[in-house]
Amino acid sequence: MQNGRLIVLTGPSGVGKGTLLQLLRQRHPELYISISATTRDPRPGEIDGRDYEFLSRDRFVASIENGELLEWAEFAGNYYGTPRASVERQIAQGKWVILEIELEGARQIRRHFPDALLIFVLPPSFEELENRLRGRNQDDVAAIERRLERAKKEIAASEEFDVRVVNDDLEKTVKQLEDVLFSNAVTSSS
Ligand code: ADP
Ligand code: 5GP
Repeated sequence: MQNGRLIVLTGPSGVGKGTLLQLLRQRHPELYISISATTRDPRPGEIDGRDYEFLSRDRFVASIENGELLEWAEFAGNYYGTPRASVERQIAQGKWVILEIELEGARQIRRHFPDALLIFVLPPSFEELENRLRGRNQDDVAAIERRLERAKKEIAASEEFDVRVVNDDLEKTVKQLEDVLFSNAVTSSS
């Protein structure tokens, strides 16, 4: 059995992380994409247990206090975190687990799991990021502004990551991610 592995995908909101992961999952169903917990309201079409575990603030805080989260952070006014049990179970079973999380969470993972592979997805330009965020049409104007502010800080920290990919052409970027994941397969994880 192959060894489990922890992979982190970070990048500003709207850069295309969800889109990239959907394509990767279709092509590599053996990858396990972690389902995060959040206090944010579901967007139209999002389903509890599939896209996120949608929790009340009280329940989220209880999860933190009970040590149920591998990492967590506040982002644009809401809490987000990775449920510990499912990730640890998948890794113990030799699975490759992908966490799609923001910068503070990625830093926590780096501290606790030094062998994790940290990937940062960059936009072709800030203007294009803004276009994608607005074009997605799923956040109100204030939420988009908060996300763009946060994006500047995240992009400034992209050098901390092991690998950086620019999501310009979708197909090319998926191929790059496949190369990163499958061509130099480091197979350990702590
Ligand atoms: P994130 O998960 O990083 O917040 P999404 O996957 O929701 O971002 O993508 C944000 C928007 O950008 C979506 O409307 C998506 O269709 C679009 N998008 C994603 N990747 C590309 C790309 N390479 N070129 C153009 N548009 C893209
Ligand atoms: P969104 O509200 O657009 O779904 O997500 C907002 C941000 O939260 C994104 O940058 C996303 O990567 C991040 N995020 C999603 N789940 C988690 C998580 O479990 N932990 C952390 N730290 N960030 C997360």
